Amino acid sequence: MKGKKSLVQRSAKKTSPLLPLIELSRRIGNDPVRYAILGEGNTSTRSGEDTFWVKASGTSLSTADRDSFTECHRSVLAPLWEADNLPDSEIDRLLLQSRVRSTAKKPSTEALFHAYLLSLPSIEWVAHTHPIAVNGILCSPRASDFAKYRSFPDDIVCCGDQSVLVPYTDPGVPLAKAIRQGVEDFQKELGSLPRVILLQNHGLIAIGGTAGAVEATTRMAEKSAGIFLGASSLGGPVFLPPDQVRRISGRPDELYRQKALKLA
Ligand SMILES: [Zn+2]
Repeated sequence: MKGKKSLVQRSAKKTSPLLPLIELSRRIGNDPVRYAILGEGNTSTRSGEDTFWVKASGTSLSTADRDSFTECHRSVLAPLWEADNLPDSEIDRLLLQSRVRSTAKKPSTEALFHAYLLSLPSIEWVAHTHPIAVNGILCSPRASDFAKYRSFPDDIVCCGDQSVLVPYTDPGVPLAKAIRQGVEDFQKELGSLPRVILLQNHGLIAIGGTAGAVEATTRMAEKSAGIFLGASSLGGPVFLPPDQVRRISGRPDELYRQKALKLA
């Protein structure tokens, strides 16, 4: 265990966001709620102006350690958001080229959407999971209701007034492009960034300024999904009217609560 301790100490000293990223990944990966099992899900955080740490391909959140993450250059991956019909070999080449250290593991293909999301102002952390209740709704005809409406105040505080809903698409470049389109449309319509991006027939993405924010958003989204499913079995949910949602998200005590929870 001596080697492991020195590794963590070295990580904390030289690459400060890596240790909290490992800890966040393990908390999410080992939670009994099962946000992700096996190799599901991935996490990331900015490490510099143009660099970020992201989970490597074939690793697990539950056993995350220093070797589970690869540091990448966002600028190498950015052209892929605009690309059309690139062969898989070229995408693989750019994923490998994006690594800060050429000996590091290949980043997950989902690094493409992490790179985009971490380019947004004030977004420093991303957590992508496949939670059971959230996916239960995302694999149903009621996904857009879950994205658009809110039924209780803490959901608004942690997950925002609405979520982005991205239609199902191929992983890799098509998914990164669809997420970008969804976020841009959301910004145009609501004038702010989302906290939650829902991928139809796939999973949940929480984005935010701190590790605590994306963890709280992930936990609350899954709780909200459980409440939605329960209320659906009783003829609901009864959603809060839009003016109530806006009032709650703008209330000083709720903004204070967001700060206290490190969500803002
Ligand atoms: Zn996924």
